[in-house]
Amino acid sequence: MTVTADHALAAVDFDTYLRMIAAFTDDELIPGEPEMVTSGGVPDEIVQRMAELGLFGISVPRAYGGLGWTMEQQVLLTFEFTRASCVYRSRFSTVIGLCSQAILDHGTEEQRREMLPAMAAGRRVTSFALTEPEAGSDATNVQTVARRVGDGWVLDGTKRYITNAHWADTLIVFARTEGSPAEAPEISAFVVDTTLPGVSTRIPDLMNGHAEGPVAEIDLESVAVPGDRLLGSTPGTGLAAAMRGINHARLHVAATCVGQANRMLEETTRHVTERHQFGAPLADLGVVQAELGRCYAEMEAGRALALDAARAFDGGTVPRQRISAAKLYCSEMVGRVADRCVQLLGGEGIVGPHPVPRMWRDVRTLRIYEGASAVHERNLGRAMVRSVAAEGVLPDSYRVRDASSDEPRGGRTT
Ligand SMILES: Cc1cc2nc3c(=O)[nH]c(=O)nc-3n(C[C@H](O)[C@H](O)[C@H](O)COP(=O)(O)OP(=O)(O)OC[C@H]3O[C@@H](n4cnc5c(N)ncnc54)[C@H](O)[C@@H]3O)c2cc1C
Repeated sequence: MTVTADHALAAVDFDTYLRMIAAFTDDELIPGEPEMVTSGGVPDEIVQRMAELGLFGISVPRAYGGLGWTMEQQVLLTFEFTRASCVYRSRFSTVIGLCSQAILDHGTEEQRREMLPAMAAGRRVTSFALTEPEAGSDATNVQTVARRVGDGWVLDGTKRYITNAHWADTLIVFARTEGSPAEAPEISAFVVDTTLPGVSTRIPDLMNGHAEGPVAEIDLESVAVPGDRLLGSTPGTGLAAAMRGINHARLHVAATCVGQANRMLEETTRHVTERHQFGAPLADLGVVQAELGRCYAEMEAGRALALDAARAFDGGTVPRQRISAAKLYCSEMVGRVADRCVQLLGGEGIVGPHPVPRMWRDVRTLRIYEGASAVHERNLGRAMVRSVAAEGVLPDSYRVRDASSDEPRGGRTT
């Protein structure tokens, strides 16, 4: 199927759109990988095509110029476009996953109308600037300070590891109000245009993986931000905005892991079928078949987990613990799959331009961002202890509820 830029996307049904994105992946993204690697970044023409195809707006409601696909549909789309390098996805991930959701959930109606249509069209690239040198897994330890000056704010601080920040038009910056108590800081989110005096970004000298989509460090030096650039109208609601949007982003990451595993397994299965040793294809060896089969089963488990959490999400509740479990499992799964695929490629897994070793390096980061694996494990364990103590059942329990009381059947009664 040929993808054309003049598609009236708003009139396209989901199945047709999914086929368009699958075709874009096969015809443009995957064949474009060598050029992306050589040039060291996602080429502008590809970014333009992503914008034309509506990829910056898949999660943005139609009322604000996006395509408004459900979470299940977003996950299905992600399975497709992440068969190509996950660096392509990162080019629009901060718009669809984190920033647009924070604006939707916590922005004023004026902020939504101003920003979301341009973001959905790919004309306004946004970055989510939360992490700092002293605030990684512990996001509440943000040291960037927001000082009230007249009707506005002045921001000072440093952010690091921020995806797309070097070419972003706008940053969503998280900062603590100057003078708020260290034990319970008032953290707010600010919409900061990168053209404002005092904003500077730089990319690191070396990326070990995800090399074509480098993160950036951001310096904010006495950046004067008008009062209406506070996200929402109440200072101190910033972290809540961040955490709500992170659920979307985590599900997108879980789906990304599945897409990457799928591609690596197709590439590797092809390799072991064509590569002969001991007078026969490697694929004839029982141990090789078993390795492939194990990977396939794990990928399918991850796929089911991501889809199940997405469906629960579309059902009206945000199943935070199940989303966390999906992100944890899928990112660990793709790490195991990548490692086994590299092993099955032998020397080609280390030497030369095969896509699998590049993806092996790229997917390593998926166990670190959107919550490191150990943090998800800890949070899940804590949520289980709390939930069983309070209700007698696990968090986000699938167990049948009593129609009369909405209590889980057989739950704690004392
Ligand atoms: C490619 C990439 C893109 C990124 N993009 C963004 C972005 O767009 N915006 C943004 O704000 N941030 C971004 N980040 C930052 C990312 O969210 C952080 O790297 C992540 O939260 C971990 O923080 P840290 O690197 O400071 O590691 P640390 O917090 O120092 O943690 C290091 C390790 O310590 C262990 N650990 C830490 N805390 C605990 C705990 N409580 N329990 C058990 N173990 C623990 C874990 O094993 C963890 O991996 C990105 C990072 C990368 C690598």
